[in-house]
Parts: sequence; structure tokens; C-alpha cells
Amino acid sequence: MEIEVVRIGQRLVRDDRVTTHVALVSRAFGAKTIFMTEINPEIKDTLRKINETWGGNFEIEFIESWKPIVKKKKEDGFKIVHLSMYGEKINEVQEKIRKEEKLLIVVGAEKVPREIYELADYNVGVGSQPHSEISALAILLDRIQDGQQFEKEFPNAKRKIIPTKTGKNVQVNETRD
Ligand code: SAM
Repeated sequence: MEIEVVRIGQRLVRDDRVTTHVALVSRAFGAKTIFMTEINPEIKDTLRKINETWGGNFEIEFIESWKPIVKKKKEDGFKIVHLSMYGEKINEVQEKIRKEEKLLIVVGAEKVPREIYELADYNVGVGSQPHSEISALAILLDRIQDGQQFEKEFPNAKRKIIPTKTGKNVQVNETRD
């Protein structure tokens, strides 16, 4: 399954930590790219360094506005999954979403324009209580990939963690330093 993420909505106060975490979750949970309307260049740099150290080719792309990318992806055969507390229950739609081949997942920041609800193929609620785009995204990505995202390799990593019961075991690839 090919997965990309778009973060929309204008925030009153820029929250770089949340933005960074949305990008980190997208990367670590198997998405290929995140599109954002507002990026502090430091966030791009943080993710570039993470890719260098821990592998993979995750990309952050700056977009002027969310609508053209959502429309283009729809034309390219992506199904649009908009995460919203008002949406259908994740437990009831996850099976159907799992069968899709290409997904563009839309998460909000502050106010989400009404139009996105109509453009979306799925409006999905991770519970019907307000929480956070970071948690909603992580849970959706886990449910639709059934945990398999954690079996994927991140190619060309300088460092690779060998999971252990106690302590830390990190394999260092000298040729990449
Ligand atoms: N008050 C905003 C609104 O109504 O548009 C939502 C702000 S919330 C902090 C930011 C984003 O987190 C939402 O746009 C949505 O993508 C996601 N989110 C929060 N709670 C959610 C839930 N229960 N289910 C799915 N997504 C959720």
C-alpha cells in the first residue's frame, strides 16, 4: 500500500513540536511523503538528519495550499482518508480502507475547511472525542497496516537498532558515516 499524508489548517500559534511529531509518525509508520502548508526549515532539517541516521527516503514537501494536492492525488487514483472526530468509526471502516492501494491521509491542525469532508472518500473518527492529529494518525496507520509497518526495513541506515530485552543494541554501519 502506498501512503502519503497531508496536514492542513491554519494554526493560530505555530507548534513546531506537534508538526515535527506528525512528520516523525508518518515516517516511522510507513508513509512515503508528508505535504504541509507551513514548515519551519528546521523541521525539514530534523527529518533529513533522521533519514541519514536511521535510513529511508521519507520526504517533506511544502505546499501553498491543500486543495490542489488533494485534487491531484484523487485524479492519480489515491483514496482520500480524512481524520476527524465526526467521521465514521474506525472499527467499522478499517477493513475497507486496508484493501485500498493508494491513500492520501488528511489530518487537521486547527480549523478544518468544510470542503474536505466532501472531497474525502472516507471521513474516519478514531473515537468520537477530540484528541490529537498525532495519535489519530498513528492509530489509523497501525490499523490499516496491521502492525506490518514495523517489519519494514529502512534502507541505507547508518544505525540500526537490534531490539533487545534489556539495554540498547545498535548496529553501526561504518561505511555510511
Ligand atoms: N477543532 C478542530 C476541528 O474541529 O477541525 C480539530 C483540531 S484537532 C487538535 C486536529 C486534528 O486532529 C483534527 O483535524 C483531526 O485530523 C485530528 N483528530 C483529533 N481528534 C480526532 C479523532 N477523535 N478522530 C480522528 N481524528 C482526530
